[in-house]
Amino acid sequence: MSRLKKFLHDRAIGLTKVVARMLPDRAPVTFAGEGSMQALCDAIAQTRPGRVGIITDEGLVSAGVLGQATAALDASGVGWAVYSGVQPDPSFEQVEAGRALLASQGCDAVLALGGGSSMDAAKVIAAAATNPGPIEKLEGRMKVKIPPLPLFALPTTAGTGSETTIVAVVSDPQSHTKKFFVDPKMLPAMAALDPSLMTGLPAHITAATGMDALTHAVESVLARTSTAQTEAYARSAIQRIFPDLPRACAQGDDLAARTSMALASYYAGLAFTRTSVGYVHAIAHTFGAFYGTPHGLANAIALPEVLDISLDAAAPRMAMMAEWIGLGSDGSSETERAQAFVASVRELSEKIQIPRTLAALRTDDIPAIARQALGEAHMNYPVPRTMEQAECEGLLGRILP
Ligand code: NAD
Repeated sequence: MSRLKKFLHDRAIGLTKVVARMLPDRAPVTFAGEGSMQALCDAIAQTRPGRVGIITDEGLVSAGVLGQATAALDASGVGWAVYSGVQPDPSFEQVEAGRALLASQGCDAVLALGGGSSMDAAKVIAAAATNPGPIEKLEGRMKVKIPPLPLFALPTTAGTGSETTIVAVVSDPQSHTKKFFVDPKMLPAMAALDPSLMTGLPAHITAATGMDALTHAVESVLARTSTAQTEAYARSAIQRIFPDLPRACAQGDDLAARTSMALASYYAGLAFTRTSVGYVHAIAHTFGAFYGTPHGLANAIALPEVLDISLDAAAPRMAMMAEWIGLGSDGSSETERAQAFVASVRELSEKIQIPRTLAALRTDDIPAIARQALGEAHMNYPVPRTMEQAECEGLLGRILP
């Protein structure tokens, strides 16, 4: 890495630390477990909104999840309107359409209903509703001048943790890039982790989104910005995911497993919103931008490869994660425990049928993907060690189909 790049990378890590320090030490008021959606709707009613704009996607309409949410709002006496045009990896156009719906229906609060795509769209829509002008002006760090409309979150996947993070991601299909909105003002006011909204989530999405939560937790532990507090959150997430993700995949209506995964995703969100993430996310975002790869699946495929190249630099941290999941009580060395952790991530992936390679990946794209991912990581993420272009290309080559 050149001296200029190193300077910029160190500066980016410094900025991440500043943002983490500015983050109010609070999380959304959170209800968890069966029935928590109704508790959230009752709490929303107490804030006396005129009308809540529900931001969601068509998949949730046809799965009947929107109907569950509107019934709960009706029972609490809260008026509502719906924008259901969000698509996976939402675009600026969808955010603009959501803003128009809120204005035309006179909504003065926002309810995010869905996975990370709906929650991220809702965060930006709530901010755009109070901050006039082009939505692009809100992109970046701390760009939200006027507080957004009150935002409430009902996650329906257990993966992104967006209900408790200060980040939202919007895709720009023209430039093959994802745009980041980072501002503590985007943290939802309240959230409910209700497993009854997640029982119809197909096994392959349960698997991919669960691995997203694992990636958040693991990358927060490996980050140079990790603290005792974020480590405790990550530990709670990791200790739930290894046993409970396979259960949620095998039996979608296992409410205990669904609740545990929703909590894991939430704890992982609390961790990474304070530490930021690393190379796995940089690569996954680039796969998403190039090929539309679902975010969780992209993370799941990249995670073990990035752990392999981090073994030397991060062995103590990886050995610690191995101990958290009960590995290494047999007198094995630190390096052996770190290797055992990577092996256990691969075993988990296999158990829940995550592919080892990325079907869409093309050899010709590898140099550009590596450049874009390294650019994102080195400008934003506190990675435990830096990777050069050739090494990143080699890593990507190992996940070619
Ligand atoms: P998603 O929101 O894109 O949803 C994936 C699919 O699952 C959709 O078709 C949706 O209709 C369906 N679905 C969701 N819940 C369902 C349910 N209960 N039953 C049936 N179908 C259901 O997927 P995601 O992985 O949760 O979110 C990915 C997005 O989140 C990406 O855009 C990513 O960039 C973003 N993200 C944001 C953060 C953050 O902190 N803000 C963190 C990680 C990822």
